[in-house]
Amino acid sequence: MSLPLITPNTTVLRPLIAGNWKMHGLRADGLALASALVELQRSEGVRNYEMVLFPPATLIGAVEPVLRDSGVGVGGQDCHSAERGAFTGDVSAAMLADLGCSYVITGHSERRQHHGETDALVKAKATAGLRAGLSVIVCVGETQAERDSGEAKAVILRQLAGSLPDGSTGDRVAIAYEPVWAIGTGLTATAADIADMHATIRQALADLSTTPDAIRLLYGGSVKAANAAEIVATAHVNGVLVGGASLKADEFQAIAEAVSR
Ligand code: PEP
Repeated sequence: MSLPLITPNTTVLRPLIAGNWKMHGLRADGLALASALVELQRSEGVRNYEMVLFPPATLIGAVEPVLRDSGVGVGGQDCHSAERGAFTGDVSAAMLADLGCSYVITGHSERRQHHGETDALVKAKATAGLRAGLSVIVCVGETQAERDSGEAKAVILRQLAGSLPDGSTGDRVAIAYEPVWAIGTGLTATAADIADMHATIRQALADLSTTPDAIRLLYGGSVKAANAAEIVATAHVNGVLVGGASLKADEFQAIAEAVSR
């Protein structure tokens, strides 16, 4: 089926702009980056988007007071599926909430790839996030090999069905489609590919959620200020998950401005 590349989204959802710092930054770097962004945000008028930063777990406690009252939220990049216990090195969703987080990301491809996270584990983590009162961004994405062999949609549908918490609704759950080959590579999916996959995800949500049109669908993969406007204007794209470009306050702010135009 051929889909229009750039069409207004049928349901208007407030775009979510998420900045994933990954394992970057010591305390001074995190404080400088968050402070610079808050300064840039101050000059913004009415924001028609929601912005959330995802610092490394070690920086959340330092960054959260800087962001408090700025309108920019803070979240965790991952959480354990259990509430507490003998899990050395892990962080629970309740601990994130206790630090002032409002979000957690689960199923990022770097967790699936480097930590062997399965769909079932991603679902358990996302469910733990909801239980702790957090909103969750559940990530899905195909590898280059899966795309080349024509399996991209099957992979995404399998990941969606296996990773979304039961009873997912748009007020607390967002989905990030992040093709693995586009993350940190400078390669971005074409508007046609993004529109096609997001329409597929939206359709699949009819069976997975009671509010399929209210779940925000983000795109992630080498998003920058120069391509953000086109990506967010694509049908069924309700925001962006940004890695590298979120480490520069000016660039991340420029993405927000591009999205809000
Ligand atoms: C990500 O970390 O989810 C991501 C999309 O990274 P980048 O923007 O650097 O490709």
